[in-house]
Amino acid sequence: MRIGELARRTGVSTRSLRYYEQHGLLRSRRGANGYRQYAEEDVRLVSEIRALLGVGFTLEDTRPFVDCLRSGHDKGGSCPESVAVYQRKLAEMATLIYVADSMSYRTAGLMDDAAHALDPNAPDYQERLVRESIEEYTIEASALKVFGTETLDFVADEALQVLGGYGFTAEYPVERHYRDSRINRIFEGTNEINRLIIPATLLKRVGQGALPFTEFLEKVDREIAEGASWGSEKAGALEREYRAAEVSKRIVAYITRLLVEKSLASLKDKQQHLEILSNMIIEVFAMDSVVARTLALKGHGSESDDQLRLMMTKIYVAATHESVLDGARKLLANEFEGEELRKHLQLEDILPKIPMRTIAAKTKLAEALVAQGLGPVFLR
Ligand SMILES: Cc1cc2nc3c(=O)[nH]c(=O)nc-3n(C[C@H](O)[C@H](O)[C@H](O)COP(=O)(O)OP(=O)(O)OC[C@H]3O[C@@H](n4cnc5c(N)ncnc54)[C@H](O)[C@@H]3O)c2cc1C
Repeated sequence: MRIGELARRTGVSTRSLRYYEQHGLLRSRRGANGYRQYAEEDVRLVSEIRALLGVGFTLEDTRPFVDCLRSGHDKGGSCPESVAVYQRKLAEMATLIYVADSMSYRTAGLMDDAAHALDPNAPDYQERLVRESIEEYTIEASALKVFGTETLDFVADEALQVLGGYGFTAEYPVERHYRDSRINRIFEGTNEINRLIIPATLLKRVGQGALPFTEFLEKVDREIAEGASWGSEKAGALEREYRAAEVSKRIVAYITRLLVEKSLASLKDKQQHLEILSNMIIEVFAMDSVVARTLALKGHGSESDDQLRLMMTKIYVAATHESVLDGARKLLANEFEGEELRKHLQLEDILPKIPMRTIAAKTKLAEALVAQGLGPVFLR
């Protein structure tokens, strides 16, 4: 059809149609007579652009919807990249994968280093290998099991949701990932058991004097009393996140000590308390790992990859340090009351506030994810 007919059928002026074309949103071909020719589906495409502009979209904002229609979808809004809510989901999926990846590589590296530090010819090599490069990392391994499998479940679940009904049918591969992912929270030690292992191992080590816990707690007391700031200039753009991870460690230490002092003997039976404490420990390990990794990778690879890693780190820490504090509040409220509770809740004052434009960051992250994938961002 010629441009005049397209204009008549869509109610859009020929001038606007040429403008859309200049911006690559509309494509024509030249007929034998040299006039622009448009396809039947361009009617729907132009109507979609017109409707979106009518509700306040900029011309550029309409591009994902146009691409979506062009790729064969019935509706411009049915592609993940064209829906803001999907952008949030994509950004959160990518962020959690990046965090899980950071925790895994960190732990594997520590285990490797511990193994390489041993003399393979020594008579006690096997025994030390198990003790120093495997058992030593019991807490990290349990944290990884829980965090990794729950990230997988979250990602598989959201991936299915993004595809809607298609996701649910066996024609698409996501339903299989959804079914397969579920077993991971059950075998290799259920996540409930792994959650119990974390605080139990921590307390056992403190009891054995294997961790410098007393010194750490004295330091924590001093720092809380002084309202000290635990920044690190080396953390640069992640200064606040570094501090949030450090403060969260102190909150975990403080709460652990209170629980031990209150009722060490019955603590092992307080599974709901231990579950919350365990989640807090996992979250601290996750924050610490992702901040460390993003700082370690800074300057390796492109500037834009650095920016994406910084964004994922900030998004994760902004949400997670609040979650650690929430766990602390729950445990305190369940154990104390009155003046004593109020005194312990002062702990809240030491946590940095991280106001962050997470919506803008998640949108940018999703756009990068759709445009280029995140392979290079995961640079190791
Ligand atoms: C597909 C598949 C493959 C498997 N492959 C293997 C394999 O190769 N090798 C192997 O050895 N095993 C394998 N298993 C077994 C698997 O490890 C067990 O299913 C798993 O350890 C959980 O044990 P259970 O099924 O007896 O559940 P239960 O122990 O009965 O647990 C039921 C629920 O109660 C919770 N629970 C249990 N005890 C506690 C507690 N003390 N505190 C809090 N919560 C608790 C659990 O977390 C779980 O949610 C496999 C299982 C499946 C389904």
